[in-house]
Amino acid sequence: MKDSFGREIDYLRISITDRCNLRCLYCMPGNIETVPMKDILTFEEIAALVRCAAQLGISKIKITGGEPLVRRNACNLIKMLKGIKGIEQVTLTTNGLLLEEMIDYLTDAGTDCINISLDTLDRDRYRMITGYDGLDKVLKGLETSLDRNIPVKINAVSVNWDRYFREEAADKTTGISNDIRGLISLSETKPVDVRFIELMPIGFGKDYPGIPHDSLIPMIQDSFTGMEKDSYHGNGPASYYHIKGHMGRIGFISAIHGKFCDSCNRIRLTSRGYLKSCLCYDKGVDVKDILRGEGSKFQMEERLLEGLKKCILSKPDSHSFSNREEITEKLTMSAIGG
Ligand code: SAM
Ligand code: SF4
Repeated sequence: MKDSFGREIDYLRISITDRCNLRCLYCMPGNIETVPMKDILTFEEIAALVRCAAQLGISKIKITGGEPLVRRNACNLIKMLKGIKGIEQVTLTTNGLLLEEMIDYLTDAGTDCINISLDTLDRDRYRMITGYDGLDKVLKGLETSLDRNIPVKINAVSVNWDRYFREEAADKTTGISNDIRGLISLSETKPVDVRFIELMPIGFGKDYPGIPHDSLIPMIQDSFTGMEKDSYHGNGPASYYHIKGHMGRIGFISAIHGKFCDSCNRIRLTSRGYLKSCLCYDKGVDVKDILRGEGSKFQMEERLLEGLKKCILSKPDSHSFSNREEITEKLTMSAIGG
């Protein structure tokens, strides 16, 4: 359905857990408090909500977290959602650590695309950023997914890690780090799109040196000759470029310096069952209350439809990430799901 600004809302991001097996500095740096299991929506509850969402025109689902693959039988949920009339795509965003061991289940469930979050190809850097020496596992997961013909995208948050770790940029002329250079090289030899995401001032993200994309894009263009704008558009807000001779594209998701609220197509469900209308604000609808409330199945469906409509119609025209006092969301990204 359309929101009050005429935007078609057809995409729902579902966080199925707020727990994670990594501790990325900008997301979940320590052992932060987690939601008690009893407060996390069951797969049946999520499916009930998605059945109603599909009636309102939601056709694309992203499974996220925390780390979605740490939730037991996560692939069963993917399979359940794939079976719902009107749902055309169920995709996953993961840190990739458990991909290799879960790939049979993910393939069997019909996962349409896997986004792997990866900020560097340097083993030590990876450990310093995520708190775990897991780069090899992630790269194996990437290969395994490609072997199964599941499309893969790499998502990297645009952080100036050289500055953060007080090291000099590898390329002093353009300021491009080895982290960025390495990630881009993945698109040369593999059919994967590598997407850079502007760091958002949500949760711990406020404390890190993000690289604005209005400076990152020209820096990459200076470093990689033959990078041209590509006409490809995915489901979301990324703008794409292509480097001559590379198999995959380079994408930029520029929430702050390329504000794309005009074409926002999404709502979000947190693991504790709160339906969010915008990443930036805490406004939304508590659907857990509806799912666990009194009444018949028919009444519950009516209330869910009402809750979904209320959330969609309350979507603000835009976020205010560039004006931090206006950000009302206090949750961390691991609790929201990105
Ligand atoms: N654990 C999974 C993963 O890492 O893909 C899914 C959840 S994670 C919260 C989803 C995405 O949010 C990841 O790509 C992560 O890098 C990104 N993210 C976390 N904090 C962020 C921030 N402050 N700004 C922008 N992206 C952020
Ligand atoms: Fe975990 Fe993903 Fe957050 Fe990293 S970005 S701590 S992998 S939820």
